[in-house]
Amino acid sequence: MKPSIHPEYKKAKVVCTTCGNEFETGSVMEEIRVDTCSNCHAFYTGKQKYKSADGRIDRFNKRYGIDDEDTPEEGA
Ligand SMILES: [Zn+2]
Repeated sequence: MKPSIHPEYKKAKVVCTTCGNEFETGSVMEEIRVDTCSNCHAFYTGKQKYKSADGRIDRFNKRYGIDDEDTPEEGA
């Protein structure tokens, strides 16, 4: 068997780009960037903190002159 045929499984630092949370996991990569983690995902927090992550809500609000940070995403 070739000794280097398998990637090395090691500790990886996971960085959440939404809340900045960092934690470790096992991976062949040294650093992993995620958009959502268990610290900020709506399923765990019960609220939307990244509603404007892709800018769609911001564009909508600007278009209709809405300047309220707490404007509901839908159903209002
Ligand atoms: Zn996060």
